[in-house]
Amino acid sequence: MSTSVKGMRDLMGAELRWFHRIEETAHRIFRRHGYQEIRTPILEYTDVFKRSAGDSSDIVTKEMYEFTDKGGRSVTLRPENTAGVVRAMVEHKLLQSNDPQLLYYLGPMFRYERMQAGRYRQFWQIGAESFGVASPESEAESLAMLFDFLGALGLKSLSLSLNSVGTPESRPAFNAAFRAFFEARRERFCEDCHRRIETNPMRILDCKNPGCQAALEGHPTIVDFLDDASKAHHGRLKALLTALGILFTENPRLVRGLDYYTRTAFEVLSADLGAQSALLGGGRYDGLVKQLGGPDTPAFGWAIGLDRLATILKQLQGEAPYEAPTLLIPVGEAASLRALGLAREWWALGLSVQLETRGGALKKALTSANRTGVKLALILGDGELEKGVIAAKHLETGVQEEWALADVPAKLKG
Ligand code: AMP
Repeated sequence: MSTSVKGMRDLMGAELRWFHRIEETAHRIFRRHGYQEIRTPILEYTDVFKRSAGDSSDIVTKEMYEFTDKGGRSVTLRPENTAGVVRAMVEHKLLQSNDPQLLYYLGPMFRYERMQAGRYRQFWQIGAESFGVASPESEAESLAMLFDFLGALGLKSLSLSLNSVGTPESRPAFNAAFRAFFEARRERFCEDCHRRIETNPMRILDCKNPGCQAALEGHPTIVDFLDDASKAHHGRLKALLTALGILFTENPRLVRGLDYYTRTAFEVLSADLGAQSALLGGGRYDGLVKQLGGPDTPAFGWAIGLDRLATILKQLQGEAPYEAPTLLIPVGEAASLRALGLAREWWALGLSVQLETRGGALKKALTSANRTGVKLALILGDGELEKGVIAAKHLETGVQEEWALADVPAKLKG
């Protein structure tokens, strides 16, 4: 028997219903904010990710699903969608004007992750990106949308963890101070951090190694080395969030996994998540569009993992609400013909009806209806046909009533 690829799973049934809920909520809320959906291919030339994520990021160094296609080109299953969205914006020349582009996406992403609970090699993300606006207001707007979205799903105990990672111009001053700090306690840091101090010192701040976290005690913070404009930006965003009633805490060790962030970086933590990492993260990435060959364009965005979100919602709220359709069971040839016509009328009215099309014994149909969670069966036999009625059987109680055919839509809606 074949199995699904390691780390990739089939989504169906109750779990998928949470995904639907989340996706429907996203479409509804994001469109309301003026964001439009974009769907980019799952496969991109590897270069798109190599150029965007930065060589020191874990995604590029360890996790990419990269292979050579039949034409000898190196392609990669997207590990995230921002790079693909930027590639599309640049390719279709949508960033030439100063008009803001507000976009959202949802779909599967792929990372060759080490196997652990809640991490998959194919997982889903929903994200939003805004291009062309450099203001803290655009960040506050995007975060307000994010919190509306999470609130609409019923998530309450959320907190925003905030930092500014500065700009490529302000970073050298921080890097110099941080290198001096690092050298004084070099032997306490892990091997990965010894590599990071050469490639991207800032990344040491979010090393998962407890020893490194302890060694970081008293480290220089990035916000202390910000240029004046970045400092003002950071202050303004905090004021806007306060005005919006979005609670935040400043986290000087928050830097995010990708190298392209500038100024604002954030994560949203859920108190319900326990020891697992953040629910989502994002930030400003003013340098990325240019890095991918486009015009100098400020941008801000975030991405949330659906798998994890669905798990939390299930933990907090149980299974996603589901109502099995009413099952219409015709008995006999004349009834079968009539049932098809009735079902079409009811479908047209928006009613949820499944038609039993196997024929055969009524008892068998009722047994399988019970097994699949059907609550109401409508049975149409020759006797009912003659009288213009239908037998309505409530499978949970066993109670059976007779309804006039004309009354069925009203009864089902009730
Ligand atoms: P990132 O793009 O790494 O910032 O991740 C954004 C969100 O995607 C995370 O907070 C997770 O919820 C989710 N995510 C990332 N990688 C995985 C994975 N391998 N499996 C499931 N969810 C993931």
